Amino acid sequence: MEWSEFARWGARISDWAKAYHDTIRARPVRAQTAPGEILAALPASPPMQGDGMEAAFADFEKTVMPGITHWQHPRFFAYFPANATPPSMLADYLSSVIAPQCMLWQTSPAATELETRMIDWLRQSIGLPDGFSGVIQDSASSATLAAVLTMRERTLGWAGNIEGLAGQATLRVYSSVEVHTSVDRAIWIAGIGQDNLVRVPTKGATRGMDPVALDAAIAADIAAGYVPAGIIACTGGTGTGGCDPIDAVCDVAAKYDLFVHVDAAWAGAAMICPEFRDMWTGVERAHSVVFNPHKWLGMQFDCSAHFLRTPEELVKTLAIKPEYLKTHGEDGIINYSEWSVPLGRRFRALKIWFVLRVYGLEGLQTMIRNHVAWSTELCEKIRDTPDYEIVTEPVLSLFTFRYTPQSMSAENVDAFNLRLVNAVNDDGRIYITQTRTDGKLVIRFQVGQVDATRDDVIEAFDVIREIAAGL
Ligand code: PLP
Repeated sequence: MEWSEFARWGARISDWAKAYHDTIRARPVRAQTAPGEILAALPASPPMQGDGMEAAFADFEKTVMPGITHWQHPRFFAYFPANATPPSMLADYLSSVIAPQCMLWQTSPAATELETRMIDWLRQSIGLPDGFSGVIQDSASSATLAAVLTMRERTLGWAGNIEGLAGQATLRVYSSVEVHTSVDRAIWIAGIGQDNLVRVPTKGATRGMDPVALDAAIAADIAAGYVPAGIIACTGGTGTGGCDPIDAVCDVAAKYDLFVHVDAAWAGAAMICPEFRDMWTGVERAHSVVFNPHKWLGMQFDCSAHFLRTPEELVKTLAIKPEYLKTHGEDGIINYSEWSVPLGRRFRALKIWFVLRVYGLEGLQTMIRNHVAWSTELCEKIRDTPDYEIVTEPVLSLFTFRYTPQSMSAENVDAFNLRLVNAVNDDGRIYITQTRTDGKLVIRFQVGQVDATRDDVIEAFDVIREIAAGL
């Protein structure tokens, strides 16, 4: 492709992007295609001769776009958000254009130094104290894996990486059942084994782990010959927003010298608003904290901020310096690939910089406060509606509810609510998902899309009621 053609296409795609966002409300939020439909429309073999951008773009519109679920739709209330704001998209475009590999300081000094500054801006923004440093990981899953590997090696005196795990003590890691499945995967990949992920019971409305039960589980494991390695706590669990009592968890961790990782992948963004920080009181005592600006801060995927109180332990676990990666004669530099599992790294700091400069923290705070307020308002409306029950109270902008008319038997309620979720998503005006809590199938509702308005949120329930009435 000639660069002149590239410039023409760049302008055309920018126009397309604006038109897409201007008309996005007219699209069904969740893709309405059947499994295999898109695959069947794609040629089975690659072309031997190129047929140009015009043809590729036409096929993108014809074949790909109908199979897209619109995460940037203002009536996206499913899962957690994955926001992309215009300055973030533009920054990612620039990053794609220069396409640097940001693994070592010398492979792009500006990327490394901007990353150091941006991580510190984010640290200040969410109220973590001075002394935490950090790294931008590709995902919270990677950050949690890095944390689990660090707790493993710290406990084994860094022998696991060298000798392997056979013959080592059997390690134990502790979490509640409210944590994301990325924790289970990290435990598998780190060779600790699912059986050694000890689930601590939760208590109270916050669904946080019971510190007394945590202490008892650790003491029992030590008595049985296991070696505790660490605790994974969550602030804003995926299902219903469960929050562990971080301060009390850190008290127990300190008693046994255990590493604490806090997964705040979704809720961490809200900590830019000081009034929400009591959700994670004590977080400054954790060793490792992750949150995803790519969820609720408009810095599009991928962008996970991983903070560390003692980064030396992480670096000692992950750094590997073959001759071809040595940066001779450069003292005091950071090579961020030594802080993460992958070697290659995208230039992610640029979108953090652009978003913070365009909106400022106040702009992002206003967005989050609106989302929380509208979600709470909707929750009250549903609570006041006959035949509907709030099952878990709002945690920031997430709550769960279900349709439970008195005439419906308990066993039919689960099936009905699942049918309701599917029918709502087939309708396409809004998108919601379900979860299971205390054995009940419930509808999960979160507000987090950057362009959502109060009307989008409140009217979502009109859609749900209308569809429930017709089922
Ligand atoms: N932790 C929590 C609490 C989450 O909700 C999620 C995803 O929604 C993750 C971790 C995984 O995030 P990622 O996709 O960045 O790995």
